[in-house]
Amino acid sequence: MACGEGVTSEDSLPRSSGDIAEAVEDSIPDVRIPPLRELMGRVSPARDSAFAPIPPELCSRDGMLLRREARDAFMHMHEAAAAEGISLTALSATRTFGHQASIWNRKWNGAQRMGMAPVDRALDILRFSSMPGSSRHHWGTDVDMHSLDPADFEQGEGARTLAWLRTHAEDFGFVEVYTPDAGRSGYQPEAWHWSYAPLSVPFLKALNEASPDEKRAVFEGFDGAFLADSVDILGRYVNGVSAEAEGR
Ligand SMILES: [Zn+2]
Repeated sequence: MACGEGVTSEDSLPRSSGDIAEAVEDSIPDVRIPPLRELMGRVSPARDSAFAPIPPELCSRDGMLLRREARDAFMHMHEAAAAEGISLTALSATRTFGHQASIWNRKWNGAQRMGMAPVDRALDILRFSSMPGSSRHHWGTDVDMHSLDPADFEQGEGARTLAWLRTHAEDFGFVEVYTPDAGRSGYQPEAWHWSYAPLSVPFLKALNEASPDEKRAVFEGFDGAFLADSVDILGRYVNGVSAEAEGR
């Protein structure tokens, strides 16, 4: 994706790698970075013109939204996949802090985790679910597709879907985030979770550059919020992503 014509031609060989990086950067239109509180879930996507609905026939239920550019790219990708018999049904898209908190609190208070020490309870939930404030689903750039069961991607239709995504998603700007990569920290692999990199790469960078105190202030108002630092939510989880999702 980074190798445009001309950049690799013989004429341009004497150019330094710095020139090439600059040329690539110039070709990317300016991205508006949302305020930190939005990136950390204080969004109202249904009332925000930066977001647009995914057509209901492409989703498992009504009312899913993504940021407009990501929504358009998702629709193009969905259409291209459908033409090859692959169904990229959206199962989850933008989630607000409140929505993530309801998922988190339900898991926190579930009978299966009742006997666990608080930190173990948080780590167990964090195998697959984000702490409110830290979810990429707050950004409006990420979408879960096809199935939320890892076993579904091991064979048959799920395996074909994953293979299609790994070959073609990048053509539409989407990258796999939680890859089965031993060097990655944080969440278990999620074959279903893909991200629109032209927005999410600069969003991650902006979040990482925000002041630690400002970020820390977000982690309140849900069960176990005091554990955000002890589980290293920002280092291990928010940054526990693939090289592609990091923009490397
Ligand atoms: Zn997801």
